[in-house]
Amino acid sequence: MTRLLDIEAIRRDFSILDQQVHNKPLIYLDSAATSQKPHSVILAVNNFYEKYNANINRGAYYLSEIATGHFHNARADIASFIGTTSDNIIFTRSSTESINLVAHCLENMDFFNDGDEIILSEMEHHANIVPWWLLAKRRNLKLKVTRVLDNGELDIEHFKSLFTKKSKIAAFTHASNALGTINPVQALINIAKSNNVATLIDGAQAIPHMAVDVAALDVDFYAFSGHKAYGPTGIGVLYAKSPWLQRMPPYQGGGDMITSVSFEDISFAKGPQKFEAGTPHIAGALGLAEACRYMMQHDREALYAYEKTLHDYALKKLASISDLEIIGKAQEKVSLISFVMPKVHAHDLSSIFDRHGIALRAGHLCAEPLVRRFGHSAFARMSLAFYNTKAEIDIFISIFERVREIFKL
Ligand code: PMP
Repeated sequence: MTRLLDIEAIRRDFSILDQQVHNKPLIYLDSAATSQKPHSVILAVNNFYEKYNANINRGAYYLSEIATGHFHNARADIASFIGTTSDNIIFTRSSTESINLVAHCLENMDFFNDGDEIILSEMEHHANIVPWWLLAKRRNLKLKVTRVLDNGELDIEHFKSLFTKKSKIAAFTHASNALGTINPVQALINIAKSNNVATLIDGAQAIPHMAVDVAALDVDFYAFSGHKAYGPTGIGVLYAKSPWLQRMPPYQGGGDMITSVSFEDISFAKGPQKFEAGTPHIAGALGLAEACRYMMQHDREALYAYEKTLHDYALKKLASISDLEIIGKAQEKVSLISFVMPKVHAHDLSSIFDRHGIALRAGHLCAEPLVRRFGHSAFARMSLAFYNTKAEIDIFISIFERVREIFKL
């Protein structure tokens, strides 16, 4: 059933948007860095602290039982949101921690031999580079990097050519935070599988925009962050296929991840709990479950189509601005656009836009190898969510006149 989108009603759910910045209405164009949160998510976090805050799992009293029930329901709802079950998702702090967890656990289960290879891509966020780089240094492994084409798409033929008998895992982003490119992840997984290589997808930029079914993808690991998907900061998810959860050793040690402890011996909990030492971010999990519910309440395809309309509108307007180069022209993109103005530094651009109430990101976008690959040290980036409007884009575009005046372009 198609449900009609009411963008004004959606905007009312995000009351943070209704404010002035430097005496101008706030225009938030940095959702790829972190999304804003709807009331229902804020309320879910608040309700936990105001009404049933207690530690979970161990308390045999009313508040703890309520909190435990909500936490388990949250896990089930988040799991179902990505097409899996509670047994297969580990709560982490973020995408970053999810990827670090995989790198550490694979290292500690002696998955790698000297000289083994990890396949990455040039368009990865630092979160999907640095943990592997550190691991490669520790264990004498080799990083192999898939090239990005000039249009911002991955060079699939190059990806294919990187696999050898030494390749162990391919880790790549679902959608690029700097180019917007949506990678053909199913095809990439199939190539890796045909080479007997494990796969990890960094889903940080995909989950906020599109339905993801990890079981259908048949990926080994899928990582994402709550805060980019309308949920709270400090909560992330790692999906892992069951055999990995059984084979991987614990990530950190502490309470709640054991079945028994003595000074001589320790037996570990099974499933995700083995990887979740200590008190989890209970409020974060509840908030993220609410964010998933919020996205599901709407017709996600319609939200995506709306974002695409905004993206295409902004792209067309930006393309008509002289002295401005758009970086990343993949066929399939999420709703973000990076650009450079050769005569104006990206940081100056973002300062000018800020004076007009517009939040724009500038810098290496935690994707330094990619930014350099395109011959720059910084991009400016506008990123859109379904709470943005065409009217906001018109204002954003109009500010380029000010830029021209200030820099005498
Ligand atoms: N991967 C991608 C593609 C991202 O855009 C980001 C955040 N910018 C991350 C990973 C890291 O996310 P977090 O900081 O929430 O761990």
